[in-house]
Amino acid sequence: MLPSRIGGQPLRLAASRPHPGHRPSSLAFNPARRPAAGGSRSVSSSSSSSSANPSSGAKTKIPARLPGMNEDDTDVERYLRENHQRLFENNKKWAAERLKQDPDFFTNLAAGQSPEYLWIGCSDSRIPAEQITGLQAGEAFVHRNIANMVISTDLNVMSVINYAVRHLKVKHVVVCGHYGCGGVKAAMTPKDMGLLNPWLRNIRDVYRIYEKELDAITDEHKRYNRLVELNVIEQCRNIVKTADVQHSFEENRYPIVHGWVFNFEDGSITDLNIDMKQMLGGIQKIYNLTE
Ligand SMILES: [Zn+2]
Repeated sequence: MLPSRIGGQPLRLAASRPHPGHRPSSLAFNPARRPAAGGSRSVSSSSSSSSANPSSGAKTKIPARLPGMNEDDTDVERYLRENHQRLFENNKKWAAERLKQDPDFFTNLAAGQSPEYLWIGCSDSRIPAEQITGLQAGEAFVHRNIANMVISTDLNVMSVINYAVRHLKVKHVVVCGHYGCGGVKAAMTPKDMGLLNPWLRNIRDVYRIYEKELDAITDEHKRYNRLVELNVIEQCRNIVKTADVQHSFEENRYPIVHGWVFNFEDGSITDLNIDMKQMLGGIQKIYNLTE
């Protein structure tokens, strides 16, 4: 059981501080939104059922103006079409710019990939791996999920690690967390989060491992920040526990596993200075898979 003084804030898995032009996300997490007992109609219920019940029909009606749209911009369909089309226009500009800088850019891209880095980050929209590190297309193999987790039963992340280490032979594996992580915040809140429970359980387990250290931090914000860091360290440890990484490290002396934390306040990245050899030595008594 987590200390009761933790949490109590409204939870948002997305941004806590919207940037200019930010359109509020429907992913804002609100545990109070759970359906009432007896089963209220979902948003996707058919129009026929809503016409039979005008009061529930109000729930399914598309609003005349989406959150974030201008006052005079009431054509939702046009807004959605343009919002989608914008990405194709951006893509054309991007491709033209690449060609201008390097006529062989796409020839090289099509020839195959040999990235040096595997990036495991949070799905949070504010931490684009390549943009904050100056990497280009082809330089990073990327996996992102809520709170940058490496869970041994998650076939998705395990397949990514396997492919990146055994086949792409990446030299570095970076786990990049971030202060202000909504997933970590949700895990600090002792509440039933429904479908998210099994995912958040892994972060709650990190809290349990470091319970003494974390409980000794009286400032809740500092405790939250520290859990973000400890969660990154534990996910690095989970990577070191894999047979893929242990075998490769024994044979090649790479990949090196790094734990980083991104800070929204100034855009900086803090290196938690994971000592790969020490971490590997520490876990191999129990998790040695190189025999
Ligand atoms: Zn996050």
